[in-house]
Amino acid sequence: MLVTNHVLAGALVGLAAPGPVTAFVGGVASHFALDVVPHWGDRPIDEVMPIAMADGLTGLGVIAVVWRSTPPGRRLRVLAGMAGASVPDLDKPGTVFLGASPFPRFVDDFHARIQTRESSARMPQELLVGVGTAAVLALVLRRVRR
Ligand SMILES: [Zn+2]
Repeated sequence: MLVTNHVLAGALVGLAAPGPVTAFVGGVASHFALDVVPHWGDRPIDEVMPIAMADGLTGLGVIAVVWRSTPPGRRLRVLAGMAGASVPDLDKPGTVFLGASPFPRFVDDFHARIQTRESSARMPQELLVGVGTAAVLALVLRRVRR
């Protein structure tokens, strides 16, 4: 699943969590739950890289916008939720740029094993999930700012 979608889901987890620790743990759980859902993928790495770069930069931009849109009293837990939701995917840039995943082998094996329902035809679904989650997040953020 695109990391931007993980970030958006993690922000919702952070808004619902009572504190930053539960937000981070909930964010990690949301990552693996979303990776079980059929999603885009299963492409050769040279084909994935341009999309992964754009997705990573979009995810960072979303983190900045959500941070700025979140009331100060909730920012830490929302940031923790977004961090927890995206941290499992550090195996990809770790492997590509540093030659190794930062996680133990059993974590990477588990992460790979749950992504059995990837398809190169599911990019429209990824974009729809992203837009839908962003819309829900915008509504929730508007409500908590009141
Ligand atoms: Zn993942």
